[in-house]
Amino acid sequence: MTLYAGIEAGGTKFICAVGSAPERILAQTTFPTTDPSESIQKALDFFSQVQGDHGSIAAVGVASFGPLDPDPASARFGTITTTPKPGWADFDFVGALRVQFNQPIAFDTDVNGAALGEWRWGAAQELETFIYMTIGTGIGGGGMVNGKLIHGLLHPEMGHMRIPHDLERDPFAGNCPYHQDCLEGLANGPAIEKRWGARGETLPSDHPAWELEAEYLALAVVNLIVTLSPQRIILGGGVMQQNQLFPLIRDRVSTLLNHYVQCPEILEDIDRYLLPPGLGKQAGVLGAIALAIEAERTAG
Ligand code: ADP
Ligand code: ZN
Repeated sequence: MTLYAGIEAGGTKFICAVGSAPERILAQTTFPTTDPSESIQKALDFFSQVQGDHGSIAAVGVASFGPLDPDPASARFGTITTTPKPGWADFDFVGALRVQFNQPIAFDTDVNGAALGEWRWGAAQELETFIYMTIGTGIGGGGMVNGKLIHGLLHPEMGHMRIPHDLERDPFAGNCPYHQDCLEGLANGPAIEKRWGARGETLPSDHPAWELEAEYLALAVVNLIVTLSPQRIILGGGVMQQNQLFPLIRDRVSTLLNHYVQCPEILEDIDRYLLPPGLGKQAGVLGAIALAIEAERTAG
């Protein structure tokens, strides 16, 4: 079996794995994200150990927090660009891995990685146009359009779309350092915590927090539906562990669309249209492995 390495680089933790498919993961490790050199060194040490035990790795995939430069033709390819995270702005992630790896290295956003993993093995198999969104510490979105991961100018920043904010219903000002009450500012995990004075994990499933959360996520989903015409939308991340959100969001999406988009996928089968990742919590790291598989295929 050909071995691929994946790094899911998150703002709070790194998850690294080596394998070739969901049911063929030979080794996996998780550690907190610290400064760049220490974090990369830990990942490299883990990969060397696995190579010693199981043989050489054919390609590496990195699915990272951003903003970042995913364009192999760019001089800044492989770097994290403007993050406020201390030490990480302008960090050459791929360059740091190159010290130890000559094999192909893919570098993309965490959500594009997860989207590719879902396309290969999860809830987006055989689709050409779909979205993967994560709702956690931040909100991000990626996906494919016409069979290709979306890049364009850089990569999408769906978490920062503007949505209506009814200040009477929700006086919380929002917490995005750039836009205050963009989607992320109103609906990420920390916004829930600040607005209600308790972490989402601790709020009961019938708390009013969830109806408001579902409203914001439904507005975002509707914007995505009318903009990209996705065949499916996958919602993952810590906040979506609240399963009661799915029916609330589906209901609001149907109401907001008001039968305008005449597709049976939405009108008759919205439970399969708007759903959690097929790969569950492994979506991120398996996505990184999926990026590695693509990198090897394109290089070969
Ligand atoms: P990260 O985005 O840091 O990679 P997560 O996707 O787990 O990690 O997101 C963390 C955020 O999600 C925190 O704000 C946390 O309060 C919230 N969260 C995590 N688990 C749950 C849960 N079961 N219910 C509601 N909110 C959650
Ligand atoms: Zn924002």
